[in-house]
Amino acid sequence: MANFNIDSTKENTYDAIVIGSGMSGGWAAKELADKGLKTLILERGRDVKHNVDYPTTNMMPWEFKHRMQVPQEVVDENPVVSKCYNFREDSMHFFVKDKEHPYVQEKPFDWIRGYQVGGKSIMWARQTQRWSDFDFEGPARDGFAVDWPIRYKDIAPWYSYVEKFVGIAGFKDGLPNLPDGEFLPGYDLNCVEGYFKEKVESTYKDRNIISARCAHLSEPQPIHLEQGRGQCMNRALCQRGCPFGGYFNSNSSTIPWALKTGNATLRPFSVVHSLIYDDAKEKVTGVRVVDSESKEMIEYYASIVFVNAGALNTNLILLNSTSNRFPNGLGNDNGLLGKYAAFHNYRARVSARYEGFPDKTTVGRRPTSGYIPRFRNVYKQETDFLRGYAAGFSAGRQVDRNYDGVGESLKSNLLNPEWGGWRVGSHMMGETIPKESNYWGIDATQNDEWGIPLLKVNVDYDDNDEKMVADYIEQLTEMFTMAGFTDIQSNDSKQAPGLDIHEMGGVRMGKDPKTSLLDKWNRMHLAKNVFVTDGACMTSTSTQNPSLTYMALTARAVDFAVKEMPKETT
Ligand SMILES: Cc1cc2nc3c(=O)[nH]c(=O)nc-3n(C[C@H](O)[C@H](O)[C@H](O)COP(=O)(O)OP(=O)(O)OC[C@H]3O[C@@H](n4cnc5c(N)ncnc54)[C@H](O)[C@@H]3O)c2cc1C
Ligand code: SF4
Repeated sequence: MANFNIDSTKENTYDAIVIGSGMSGGWAAKELADKGLKTLILERGRDVKHNVDYPTTNMMPWEFKHRMQVPQEVVDENPVVSKCYNFREDSMHFFVKDKEHPYVQEKPFDWIRGYQVGGKSIMWARQTQRWSDFDFEGPARDGFAVDWPIRYKDIAPWYSYVEKFVGIAGFKDGLPNLPDGEFLPGYDLNCVEGYFKEKVESTYKDRNIISARCAHLSEPQPIHLEQGRGQCMNRALCQRGCPFGGYFNSNSSTIPWALKTGNATLRPFSVVHSLIYDDAKEKVTGVRVVDSESKEMIEYYASIVFVNAGALNTNLILLNSTSNRFPNGLGNDNGLLGKYAAFHNYRARVSARYEGFPDKTTVGRRPTSGYIPRFRNVYKQETDFLRGYAAGFSAGRQVDRNYDGVGESLKSNLLNPEWGGWRVGSHMMGETIPKESNYWGIDATQNDEWGIPLLKVNVDYDDNDEKMVADYIEQLTEMFTMAGFTDIQSNDSKQAPGLDIHEMGGVRMGKDPKTSLLDKWNRMHLAKNVFVTDGACMTSTSTQNPSLTYMALTARAVDFAVKEMPKETT
């Protein structure tokens, strides 16, 4: 497959290649281009231009053929993706449909994907909590997986760097287990959430309720206006793409920024097949791409490659990158590529009623909710399971609208709804333990239509997860009871892994090449010009939503690649 045409080789040569244009790839592209590297961004899906390609963004509910419900035949055709709460009539065009891109479920796994410029950053829920040392020290302290090669102090300045550009709304809560960041004004808790906060924080010394930090421009700064983004108007229709750029996605922020430098080239419809390893040079020299439309295979070359295809596809690309030197996948001498996969346990919910505050209600919308940072096993081991869970928490008033009447009487009935009681709800976000037996692999017997082997997934919950679900239900029930909530109901959905959309691992970071794939700079131990900074790199999962950490690791890795790597070879 070597390319002998010297002119075309030159034409196809860049300083850096980024695979994937989603949350982490967007950051790699922006940082590389900002630092002056001629950067090629390879994206398997179509282009989605900010605003231009958000077809539903300004539509009214009545303009949707199915009033924003997903038609039953679409649900029937897409049993996996239709389980995602954000797969709706106004946003389903951003999600991969089940049949378009099959994969092998050795065990049930609901894989939620967005194959387009921007990746899943278009549809994400924008929750952005930092990790602390209680997370980075977890594996070493509790004796699972391997030790992270970094600590909070290594990533803290990069959290700040990324947060300032992205725009994160939040309050300085002063919690050691959830470090504060560079915040725009936060979104207040409503009266019932505030009441619950008071009750919980005065009853338990180590439990808190805060407003969840989120990637919204509550008060845009010059750096956001420079990106062409404006204030969030609290429409809470973000899954359609926001016309104001009020929330962060790659499409409104990092990708156009990279392109504006004049150093970046975006190539949509480019399915990366594998990385090219040169045995003689002992490094990766480029990538093989299948044009998704013409099916032509093309090679592109660069001295630095960032693999940011989303955790599972990054594993697939690296496993499919075989050579004489690496017959089992790039950098895979230890046989651990694809292994120690993990995810978040989102199985359980607890809900209730509250009879207080009958004279109060909420007005308008809010793009975030309350958050209960992890409180189990933080300072010491106190339960019969390892690690812990965070939880979302929100309260809202039920409303009964009377649709009777016509004309004035209908208008009056709609404008004067009957307020029901308050409902409160919580969902768990549990850490799962990465294990060798949980893996993403390739099925060498089946190829997709671009000639790439199918991904196979083999991950599952374990006893630790079962105990954690039980504890979450018990503790939230206790906290709700203590706060005087009534009609408390709990539910374990027993959903398969995947719907958390926080798949991680398989190409983990670590100190030792014998037990990990990446070093402390997210660089492959055995292919030193290849970086992996999406979820595949994660050594453990913590409980916090992970994307902020991927973005910070990416900016940090690019800084190393551009500033420090050249010094190593001189
Ligand atoms: C409904 C929903 C809610 C979420 N809420 C949150 C949240 O609140 N907080 C949070 O932190 N995270 C959240 N997430 C998860 C978040 O979206 C992901 O963590 C994040 O997008 C991962 O970034 P990434 O760069 O790894 O992958 P992506 O953003 O998925 O980007 C990967 C890109 O690579 C491309 N690609 C894949 N394979 C190839 C290939 N072979 N060749 C070329 N290109 C390829 C894809 O098309 C895609 O554009 C949510 C996700 C969803 C869907
Ligand atoms: S909530 Fe904010 S970011 Fe989301 S669509 Fe509305 S204005 Fe845009």
